[in-house]
Amino acid sequence: MYTIIANWKMYLSIRDSRELAAKLVTWWKETPCVNVNVVVCPSDIAMRDVADQVLGSGIKLGGQSLSLSAGLGAFTGQSAAQQLQEAGAEYVILGHSEQRRFLGVTDRMVRQQVQVAMQHRLHPVVCVGETDEERKAGRADAVVVSQLHAIFEQLSWPTNGLSVAYEPVWAIGSGKPVEPKEAQRMHILIKHTLQEFFGSVRAQDTSVLYGGSVNPENMGSFLQEKAVSGLLVGSASTKPETLRALITGIQNDFCKRPL
Ligand code: PGA
Repeated sequence: MYTIIANWKMYLSIRDSRELAAKLVTWWKETPCVNVNVVVCPSDIAMRDVADQVLGSGIKLGGQSLSLSAGLGAFTGQSAAQQLQEAGAEYVILGHSEQRRFLGVTDRMVRQQVQVAMQHRLHPVVCVGETDEERKAGRADAVVVSQLHAIFEQLSWPTNGLSVAYEPVWAIGSGKPVEPKEAQRMHILIKHTLQEFFGSVRAQDTSVLYGGSVNPENMGSFLQEKAVSGLLVGSASTKPETLRALITGIQNDFCKRPL
C-alpha cells in the first residue's frame, strides 16, 4: 500500500482549496487505485469545504497539527482532535519542521500530540529529519534516531496505525531532494529504530514516507525504493498542473486497479 499525502500548508485560500479538491476528486475517479491512499491536508479553516468535495471519493483528509489538550477547552488559537475529526479528518501531520521552527514545537510536544491523536482515532503522520548543519556534521542518523526515541519510547502502539515521514529540513521547499538511495537508507534506519519500541511486525506495518521537494519528475525514483511506502508532498501538491501530474504518475506506474 502506498500513501501519498498532500500537505497544502497555508498556500491556498479557502476557495482555491475547495476548487483544487474538486479537481483532485475528478482526476482520481478516472483511475482509482486500490493500493494507494491519497490524503489531503488543507488548512483547518478550509477542512469542511474540502471535506464536502472529497466525501465518497475514497480520498482522505488530514490536519496539519493538533492541540496538546486531549479535550476541548480554553486554548486560544488551537484546534482540538475532536474538532478535526468532526470536520472529517482521519490523519494528522505532527512535528512538521515548520511547526518546530516557527511555533517552537518540540519532540516532547509531538509525543503528547501522538497520544492525543491516538485517543481520538486519528492516524498520526510524525515528521522527523535533520537540518543541513546536522547532516554536514555527519549527525543525520543520530538526530533522526534521537527524535524517534524522544517521541515513541515507551508509547503504546497507535491502534489507528502510524506513519513516519522522513523530511530532511534542508530538502523542504528547496528544490533539492535527498538522493533516493539515501532516503531508502534512512527509511531502513527508521524502521529499525521503531522495531525497538513496537516489535518487528508493527515496525513493518508503519508507513515510512519521504518528504522534501518531491515533484512529478522525481516521484517515481522514490517510490521505486522498497523502504519508501509513500510521499509527503508540499508545494507540488498545491498547483493544479503539478498535482494532476503527480496523480497521473501514480495512476500510470504504481496503481492496482479495482477488479
Ligand atoms: P515541499 O514540502 O514538497 O514543498 O518541499 C514538503 C513538506 O514540507 O511536507
